[in-house]
Formats: sequence, C-alpha cells, structure tokens
Amino acid sequence: MSGNASRLSAINAISNGTSKQTDMPDSLSSIWASDVFNLATMEEALSKNAFKAMKKTVQTGSPLDPATADVVAAAMKDWAMSKGAKFFSHIFYPMTNATAEKHDGFIVTNADGNAITEFTGSLLIKGEPDGSSFPNGSLRMTNAARGYTAWDPTSPAYIMNTANGATLMIPSVFMSWTGEALDKKIPLLRSNAAMDKAAKKVLALMGETEIATLNSSCGAEQEYFLVDENFANSRPDLLLAGRTLFGAAPAKGQQFDDHYFGAIPERVQVFMQDFEDQLFKLGIPAKTHHNEVAPGQFEIAPYFEAANVAADHQQLLMTVMKNTAKKHGFLALLHEKPFAGVNGSGKHVNWSVGNSTQGNLLDPGNTPEENLEFLLFCGAVIRGVHMFGPLLRAVIASASNDHRLGANEAPPAILSVYLGDQLEKVFKDIQDGNLQPTECGGVMDLGLSQILTFTRDPGDRNRTSPFAFTGNRFEFRAVGSSQSVSGPLVAMNTMLADSLDWIATKLEAALSSGADKTNAVIAVLKELMDEHGNVIFGGDGYSEEWHKMAVEERGLKNIPTTADALPALQEESVIKLFESTGVLTPVELESRYEVYSEQYILSIEVEAKLVIDMATTSIYPAAAAYLSELTSTIATAAEVGVTLDNSLAKKVASAADDMMKDVDKLSGAIAEHGFPTVEDHMKFCAGEIRSLMDSIRENADLLETLVADTAWPFPKYSEMLFIK
Ligand code: ADP
Ligand code: MG
Repeated sequence: MSGNASRLSAINAISNGTSKQTDMPDSLSSIWASDVFNLATMEEALSKNAFKAMKKTVQTGSPLDPATADVVAAAMKDWAMSKGAKFFSHIFYPMTNATAEKHDGFIVTNADGNAITEFTGSLLIKGEPDGSSFPNGSLRMTNAARGYTAWDPTSPAYIMNTANGATLMIPSVFMSWTGEALDKKIPLLRSNAAMDKAAKKVLALMGETEIATLNSSCGAEQEYFLVDENFANSRPDLLLAGRTLFGAAPAKGQQFDDHYFGAIPERVQVFMQDFEDQLFKLGIPAKTHHNEVAPGQFEIAPYFEAANVAADHQQLLMTVMKNTAKKHGFLALLHEKPFAGVNGSGKHVNWSVGNSTQGNLLDPGNTPEENLEFLLFCGAVIRGVHMFGPLLRAVIASASNDHRLGANEAPPAILSVYLGDQLEKVFKDIQDGNLQPTECGGVMDLGLSQILTFTRDPGDRNRTSPFAFTGNRFEFRAVGSSQSVSGPLVAMNTMLADSLDWIATKLEAALSSGADKTNAVIAVLKELMDEHGNVIFGGDGYSEEWHKMAVEERGLKNIPTTADALPALQEESVIKLFESTGVLTPVELESRYEVYSEQYILSIEVEAKLVIDMATTSIYPAAAAYLSELTSTIATAAEVGVTLDNSLAKKVASAADDMMKDVDKLSGAIAEHGFPTVEDHMKFCAGEIRSLMDSIRENADLLETLVADTAWPFPKYSEMLFIK
C-alpha cells in the first residue's frame, strides 16, 4: 500500500488504536543492573585475588594479566549462560554514530559430537570481525582487512535481550592490524589519559601530594521525537533519512508553547516506563524525562557517569530507545531536525573532570585554595575553546546537525563560552588587575579572598550559548541528538590536556621565580585572559549583533556548515594538538577527516535521491491527478454556461512544473563527479545540492496546501506531530 491509501489507513489505525500495556513496573532494586556483569556481580563470582586485580583494572585502567582474564572469562560465561545467553559479541564503536557487533557462540563440539561451551580469556580479550566494510579512511586496504576488537574492561559487559534471545555484549575497542584506532573509543580512552597526565602536573604544582587518577564525566541529555509507526511507514523520508524532506507548516505548530513540560500523553508514558525499565536493567541511570519544546518531542537524561562508560551507555540508550519505541508502535527519531519549522533535537553533553582526592575540579570549592584550582581548570577550558573552537565545531558537524546549528533556536555556529555573571566578573577582574593580592607574605587582601571564596552559582542559565558553565560542569549544547558523544568528549578532554600543560609550564616558571602560589595563579590566569578572554560571551547568542561582533571584533569564526567545519581536522594546530597529547596520530586524524567527509557527502546524496524519487513518483502524480480533476470540473461548468475561476488550477500547474524543473537540475547535480578535492565536493553538496532540495521542497509544500486533502500522498505535519 502506498500514497493516499496508506495515509488514510494510518489515520484510521491510529484513531482506533489503544496504548500498549506493559507489565506493572518492577521495583527498582529488583531490576537495577540485573543484566550487567559489574563489579558487584564480579565480587560474588570471582576469587578474592581475581576480583582485586579486576577492580584495579576497572578503576585505574591498569592491564589485566592473562591468567586473571581466563578466570574472568569463565565467570562471565557462566553468568551470561545463567541469563539464557548462548552467544557473545564484542560490541564496538566504528567511526559512524552507530555501533557494530559480531556474534559468536559459546558452543564447541568435542570429538564425540557432544556440545560443550567454551570461553577463554583470549576469546574475551580479542575478537576478529571482518572489518573490511567499516569506514576506515584508507587506513586498511580492503584486501588486508584484518581489524580486531579488544575488550575494554573499564566498561562493564551486559546481556542484550531481544526477541531472538540473549547475547553477552562485551564493550570493545576496534583497531587495525597495525594498531591504528578505527573507532571512537580508543581516542576517548587516550584523551582521558592525556588529561589525567596534564592535570596531575598542575595539581602537583599547586602543592597537592595525594592525587588519584583523574577521569572525565559525562551526563548527556537526549532529545528525540516520537512518530506513530503507521504514519512513519507511509513516509519513505522518515524511514530512510530520519527526517521529513517535505511537509507544509501546520496551522498549529509550537507557537503556543503548550508542550514544553506539559502532561506527557498516556501512550508515551507507557513507552517511557518500559524504556526506562530496560535501561535500569542495563545499569543505565535514567533520571529525568519530560516533554520538550516541540509537539511530539521528548527528552531523557541519565545521571552522569565516567565519560567512557557514559559514551557506551549513550549508544546503548539510543539502541534501546529505537527498539522499545517500535514495540509501542512508534518510530523514535534521533535526527536533529525531523520537521522543518519545528524545534530540532540536541544532545547536551554535560562534562566535568575530577578524581577521588580533589573531587570535581570544575566545582568551586569552599576555600580559596580549592577555588584557585577551580579557576585554573576553568581557565584551561576557556583557553581550549578559544584555541580549538573550530575543532569543537568540527566534531559536532554532520549533515543533519547543519539544519539545527545557526538556525535561531539552537546554539549558534560560533563557539563561545558562557560563564555566568559572577564567574565572568572574577575572570575579568583578574584580567584587569583588580585583584592584585598584597605583597605581605602572600596573604590575600580582603577583596581577593572574598572573590576566591565565592559560592557556586548556577546563575541565569544562558540557553543561547553553545558552551556554558552550569555551576559545576560545562554543558556543550551544540552536540547533535543523533551523534555519539565520544567525538565531543575527545575534543574537550584533549583541549583541556593541552591547556593544563600550558598552565603547568607557566605556573612552574612563575613559582620558580619566587612568586607565591596565589600570585603565580593570578599571573597565569591574567596572561590566559589577555590571550583568550575574547571567547567569553554572556549575551544573546542568537542576536545579529553578536554574529557581527564575534567575527569582526572578537576574531571568532562563524562556521555554518559541515563543509566549512570538517577541514579544521586538517589544520596544523589541530594535528599538533592530537599528536602532542598522544590522542591521535596524524594518520589516524587524516583517516577521520576522510571518513567524516565521505559520510557527509553520502548522506546528502541519499536525501537528494529521495527528494527526486518522492517528488517524481508521488507528489507530481498527486498534483497532476488533481489538476486534471480541476480542469475537467472547469470544463463541465463551462458546458452548463458557468465560467469557473481557474487560478487554483494555474497555481497547481505552475508549482508542479517548477518543481519538476528543479528535480531535473538536481538529478544532473548529483551525477556530477570529479571534484578536485573532497572539500570542493562537500561545498557543492552544502551549496548547490542543498539549495536545489530546498527549492523543490518549496513548491512541493505549496502543492500540499493546494491539492485536495483526500488526495495527498503523505501524512501531514498536523497529523504526525500531535500524538494521540
Ligand atoms: P538541565 O536540563 O537543567 O540542563 P538535566 O538535569 O536535564 O539539566 O541534566 C543535567 C545533566 O548533567 C544530567 O545528566 C546530570 O547527571 C549531569 N551532571 C550533573 N552534574 C554533573 C557533573 N559534575 N559532571 C557531568 N555531568 C553532570
Ligand atoms: Mg541541560
């Protein structure tokens, strides 16, 4: 069934539908992490010594010896089989935003033909998927396509239950035979280690003697849309591109702001409860959920966790969301802009760094001492965003996020830092020299000590800032809803490592030339502010004035599209950043540039083909049929001596004709090849192809408002957006 019949039957199915009831929710304690092989499970399943070794690995990342790996593997297999698993899989995170897995059985047969099960430490540690089809940016020739996965013991294994049974999932890294990173996890782990190393230098200079391993933390707020699957099944664009490529604005959109934090429709509540129970079983701490700004839009935010685990959990959350939505008759849309003219979806990445001895270093403390450390770490972030703004823009660049960034509802495509009034003043005072401590033995004057004992102030949260301090963390708000959080976390950790290293060098010099600690910190921060303070902005990030001022006076970059953003990965400063911190070699970075630009071009081309197809095979025929109905009505009326106004028929005819002319142009455009560089090809997609798609849409959407409702082939915005 297709076209109008499909749309009408969808409306019918929904009108007669009821929400799917699930079992009464189990108590949290009975389901929490019940499908996770975490430290608590291991403590029961392992000998004391094996557990101790494993715990050390989990908490500090130290390597595990092969004998212990065997013991852990055996215990993991027994546990998984007791949960019904017959298969295991290394799950890894290739350079797409998706996950990949290859399933293997525990089963082996012996000489008598009997089945036994086996799972050794070496099977646990290493897997060999045929990696040739994963994007690798020419790091591996396909004829030598051996890539392998290796267990990441710091992210717990778990059971994935599907209708087909249970599988033991083992979070893993994915690398080439020659050891290059082919995934998103390896750089995340490396960036964390680089940050740890640089942070320890700074903390040691600040006189700390006990310094535990530092880790970054991440709490991601995930926005998404739900659309009834009956409608989705009648929209090839939603199914294949994850967004509507056509659709006229409804009479009622989000103008009334009545959806934000409004009552959640019952059917959605039933879905959410089921979704969250699945997350709890997997040890994902889902904490808040609510309606979002747009109709049909919702948000879920788990409690923050160590960045590496949070990143794995985020991927898992997206998978579980899609599967659970399907069960409840919804299609979950993670696209950044599924509906034009309606708010898009983002993923706010809340990020902080800390350890068990100094605590969260982005949390102002209670003493001047603690606040000096806080100011240094905060200053390091300011410097990082200023120096590597284009990198931060590049790691959130995608064809889909381009629809959101820079449109006046989402963060602007200019990277600036929001600190809140109080903290901004502290940094400005430091820069202006208003905080010179007295010389008498390093004792701070009253003004300074007051400033340095300021309390945490979440302040007035600036919703227009792409990168905001929110009391005890930074919130990177420009990340796209469909993206892996790993890229942004890697960029943030790495720029922080670089800045902390710079700070350590300056601090060491100041201290060795005899300055006391406070004076040394203030001097370093003043220099930092002189060079990088320009990136701090507390005003309206959406305003025209800011766009002008940011570029003309502050020297910041406005980077509107992915085609403009990705080349940052090839800049000398960025190559040096990743190489000097050991996070990515130049070759690995180059491969990422290749993969991401290829993905960008491919996703635009897929959409362009869909636009051509939908316009040609559904929209034009609907318009033509309606036109012939109109003209025959006009002819019939003429026969009885009445001259009907033919302006509607004319409008339909000319919109349909204009649309098809652009369709022809677009077909020609996507056939173009032989661009001198990938960058040129990306620019062509961002310019020529996107604008042809837009003008086809303009005429198609006009037709939607002209053609008889009963003849329109696709579910309309007004139908899809308001969940019954
Ligand atoms: P809001 O919508 O007001 O920004 P939410 O409560 O929806 O806030 O989400 C805030 C997110 O930030 C949650 O995931 C929360 O766990 C996380 N978070 C809180 N403190 C920290 C921290 N120190 N480091 C990282 N993430 C944090
Ligand atoms: Mg938030």
